[in-house]
Amino acid sequence: MAEKPKNKALVERDACVGCEYCVNWCPVPECLWMEGGEQVSGSLPMLHVNLETCIGCKLCEQNCPYDAIHIYKLNPDEIERFKPDDGIIPLPYHKL
Ligand code: SF4
Ligand code: SF4
Repeated sequence: MAEKPKNKALVERDACVGCEYCVNWCPVPECLWMEGGEQVSGSLPMLHVNLETCIGCKLCEQNCPYDAIHIYKLNPDEIERFKPDDGIIPLPYHKL
């Protein structure tokens, strides 16, 4: 039997300002993590999502002040597709 879709967070690259607010809400250790900022001159820190460990609880979505991270029901093949980019997408998923 095919695996059911799972709720997973995807972050929109162009909407996220790297404020880290969502990281404080996520109940799963190191599921949301930041990269860049000071290490990459001139760029904002970028949020990453560990799609293996995300439990789809929606706390990041509910608390992001910039409406930059949302929960989607993803099939296993979609989850695999977004894993190499750590759940980062350019636009809201329905606009891709
Ligand atoms: S997703 Fe939202 S809360 Fe999280 S770092 Fe980006 S802008 Fe901040
Ligand atoms: S949905 Fe929940 S577990 Fe997944 S990244 Fe957001 S806060 Fe963390």
